[in-house]
Amino acid sequence: DNAQPNKPSWIRVKAPGGKGYNDTHKILRDNKLSTVCEEAGCPNVGECWSAGHATMMIMGEICTRGCTFCNVATGRPNALDAFEPGRVADAVKKLGLKHVVITSVDRDDLEDGGAEHFAMTIRAIRRHAPDTTIEILTPDFLKCTDDALEVVVAARPDVFNHNLETVPGLYPSVRPGARYFHSLRLLQRVKEIDPAMFTKSGIMVGLGEDRQGVMQVMDDMRAADVDFLTIGQYLQPTPKHHAVDRFVTPEEFKAYEGAAYGKGFLMVSATPLTRSSYHAGDDFARLRQA
Ligand code: SF4
Ligand code: SF4
Repeated sequence: DNAQPNKPSWIRVKAPGGKGYNDTHKILRDNKLSTVCEEAGCPNVGECWSAGHATMMIMGEICTRGCTFCNVATGRPNALDAFEPGRVADAVKKLGLKHVVITSVDRDDLEDGGAEHFAMTIRAIRRHAPDTTIEILTPDFLKCTDDALEVVVAARPDVFNHNLETVPGLYPSVRPGARYFHSLRLLQRVKEIDPAMFTKSGIMVGLGEDRQGVMQVMDDMRAADVDFLTIGQYLQPTPKHHAVDRFVTPEEFKAYEGAAYGKGFLMVSATPLTRSSYHAGDDFARLRQA
């Protein structure tokens, strides 16, 4: 039984709608793009889209993995669309984004895990919208050619984000098919290949981890030279998904934030509604001004 505790008062979100929201929706539709905002049923979609922020999800809507927290469909994906990078770049330009986050499904079916498609997308955005900073949120490239990561890093995104999602002890039930230390090593390798690139990672809390476990993940990330951290409350997308173990209080989030800065992260977002891409642009702009 996946019954979950009632949502507390601090999980309140803006209902989707209004002109800004509709304009964003139209540009994404016209360019036939998928977003993780919709696919994941993100609670922030009303707020983000009204401000023209959306996280585009490339390489299709079907994932080869089946993470138990994730609402994206699992199955056999479609062939890659060679025109997608151009449509993403066009949408970035039309939305007038200062910062864009591009993510994807996992493509274990492709030899390079979709690395070249990511790189093409980054290059297309650079051509169409040279002033936009680019953040990519990638899969783990666990089952593909060794140089996949190099291909993506060589396209020089501004921020390389890969989420650890949870503590290692919960991987079998939350992120089956992934390996904690592989993901950690991936982040470390990004820094080794290009020390000037910002790296970022995040976890969800409320899945059954304890405080000590979260602290250990932070230490592991810092040991891998990860620069930015996000921590948000896990919310169950449907009753079939992993149950919410508990709702972490805003005070606990605040304490995580303080601990994370103490450990040396350059930028931390830790609130109940924090998502990997939540306010990513604002935070990054602040950091660049500092
Ligand atoms: Fe989309 Fe990220 Fe905003 Fe959620 S937080 S609506 S995924 S941009
Ligand atoms: Fe969802 Fe990503 Fe896991 Fe696929 S790899 S099921 S898109 S979280």
